[in-house]
Amino acid sequence: MKTRSKLLGLAIIIILSMLIIGFFQVSHSGTTNKKQQRLQKTSVKNQSNALPKHTKLSDWQLLLVNKQQPRTSEISFNKVTVDDKQIDQRIARPLANFRAGAKNAGYDTTLVSAYRSIAYQAEVYNTSLKQNEANGMNKESAKKLTESVIQTPGSSEHQTGLAVDLAGNDALAKYPNLVAQMDTFASQQWLIKHASDYGFVLRYLADSKSIAQTGIDYESWHFRYVGVINAKYMVQHHLTLEAYRDELKKAAQK
Ligand SMILES: [Zn+2]
Repeated sequence: MKTRSKLLGLAIIIILSMLIIGFFQVSHSGTTNKKQQRLQKTSVKNQSNALPKHTKLSDWQLLLVNKQQPRTSEISFNKVTVDDKQIDQRIARPLANFRAGAKNAGYDTTLVSAYRSIAYQAEVYNTSLKQNEANGMNKESAKKLTESVIQTPGSSEHQTGLAVDLAGNDALAKYPNLVAQMDTFASQQWLIKHASDYGFVLRYLADSKSIAQTGIDYESWHFRYVGVINAKYMVQHHLTLEAYRDELKKAAQK
């Protein structure tokens, strides 16, 4: 009788533990399946995330100027003056909203630079070149040093009137010459994080793939207006303007 009840007890324990293990396995695989389903859903979502419907390569917001595509003549557009600097009139409202948003979040900003004509860019470029030569450099090294910090005339995006150098006041106070580390300030981080809400993107990203595409090192202060829909798409997919235009080009060829 004793042995039987012992055996019965043992059997109950075994059955119970099997049930418990079984339960955990089921519930665990349940969560795994749910996780997988969620992952599948997001990847499906990403795949079906098509390019913005009404965007065209020829849209004024997507005008591309870079080292590979420099311009020899000035671009004509309506200019307005903001803080003694000129911008394309079409981005005046978005820029004002962008800066008002920053101010609401507690960050005052300075518009450091905006539209620059090719002629002005040439002046800045030549002054730097002459300065380097006056410092004893030969022509080649003087040119190299100048071009490491200043765009050759015609290749700067500032001539579009759609690009601005925008800095949090505290970041600018510490780094008046605009350096990448400005992004250690919460003000600059706010600008970078929220730019797309106002139609801007941080134009020159920090990863090597982006730098290879833009030909320009990371700039935590240079924002470019592309319109809200384009900006959101570019940020979501981590695309430079060069890469985004390539995608649009490919889609148009299909
Ligand atoms: Zn700039």
